[in-house]
Amino acid sequence: MLSEHKIEKFSKEFETKTPQEIIEWAADRFCPYMAMSSSFQTQSMPLLHMATRIIPELPVLFLDTGYHFWDTLLFREKIAHEWGLNIIDLHRSSHWDSFARQYARSLPVEDPNLCCYLHKVQPMQKALKGYRAWISGIRRDQTSVRAKANFLELQEDGLLKINPLLNWTKNDVSNYIKEHELPQHPLYEKGYRSVGCAPCTIAIGVNDDERAGRWAGRGKVECGLHTSMFNTKDISESQSEFRLNATKTS
Ligand code: SF4
Repeated sequence: MLSEHKIEKFSKEFETKTPQEIIEWAADRFCPYMAMSSSFQTQSMPLLHMATRIIPELPVLFLDTGYHFWDTLLFREKIAHEWGLNIIDLHRSSHWDSFARQYARSLPVEDPNLCCYLHKVQPMQKALKGYRAWISGIRRDQTSVRAKANFLELQEDGLLKINPLLNWTKNDVSNYIKEHELPQHPLYEKGYRSVGCAPCTIAIGVNDDERAGRWAGRGKVECGLHTSMFNTKDISESQSEFRLNATKTS
């Protein structure tokens, strides 16, 4: 395992490296104990493209929340087939089935933090237990939380999170898409600049912030995968962020 000093040192060096150089560095050290996550939206395509060309067998973790647009699922199937991807679907724990079914319609609206915790944070925590490193596609220009991220971030349980696109801008993403003629998510042209689950995504204007259509008007900008919520291993530690008391109702 890398020491905290080395993580800091590499993280600083990566400020001037290309995403491909960072992925190659990670592949040498961590494969086959490394995975990436992807939401298969248009902005995710460059990282998915470059990482799976460097490491064709790289496990690609996809959070199948049950709330995706059909367009996302069909697009995911098409890309998986055409690019020969090694996709692993992640689902919520069956422990929450009865609670999640009971509140299926209202949960994303009434308590999006809890909904994201059950459908995204917990399944990703569980899946990543088998890996030493996790490649994520966050960029500093996306949100104020992401603006403070580092290229390498050690999670509490020893997992190393690697953010190769951290310094890329929206323009870098579109340039890469054009240069490599990458396919776009089918909803992109309809104004869905950042596509998540259907109940929490709306179309936006061309001049709006890229993520303005996610949880619009609900005071939420992150699902929890890239915040301190990801480090909480017990639901009771995150309870203060929830409106519904899932421990009572499950
Ligand atoms: S994005 Fe919305 S529907 Fe998807 S898990 Fe989060 S709150 Fe639930």
